[in-house]
Amino acid sequence: MAICRIVQTGHPVLRRRAQAVDPGWIGSEDFEVLIADMIETMREAPGVGLAAPQIGVDRQIFVVEDQISVEGADEIEHQKVPLQVFVNPQLTTIGDESDAVVFYEGCLSVSGFAAMVSRRRRVRIDALDERGREFTVEWTGWPARILQHEYEHLEGRLYVDRMDSRTFSALDELSAAFES
Ligand code: ZN
Repeated sequence: MAICRIVQTGHPVLRRRAQAVDPGWIGSEDFEVLIADMIETMREAPGVGLAAPQIGVDRQIFVVEDQISVEGADEIEHQKVPLQVFVNPQLTTIGDESDAVVFYEGCLSVSGFAAMVSRRRRVRIDALDERGREFTVEWTGWPARILQHEYEHLEGRLYVDRMDSRTFSALDELSAAFES
């Protein structure tokens, strides 16, 4: 396993739509190494999610994990997020636009900054796991925010595309933010 360099905004891989993973590649040694590297890199950063393009790999894969409890974060429905690998994910929003939640968000590829971003409160993702098995999650609140952030990486989008730009802040000036 290795800790990979996390590319920063300006790198073209972050602005491309990532390519779908050939299911036949899942389970190969290269695939296993990539997944292990992504998990290790996310944990070391530390971050609560990491998409393959963030380590320069143009494939539709992201990993998430958040084992930290944040006190007083009830308004964003903070909860722990289990380690989960998503391959070729498809995202569906649940509910309507009025279910949006606005909160600070950061990104390991926009290092050192955060801004307020409106996200849908509840989403569903259908994906393959690291064994190539189909699965579905429906997550609400904080975990749903992480899913939307990571999914958009695979579409070549960053949170700065949808942030309230007047809230764009150096992390040193903030305490309540996450990076992924
Ligand atoms: Zn990010």
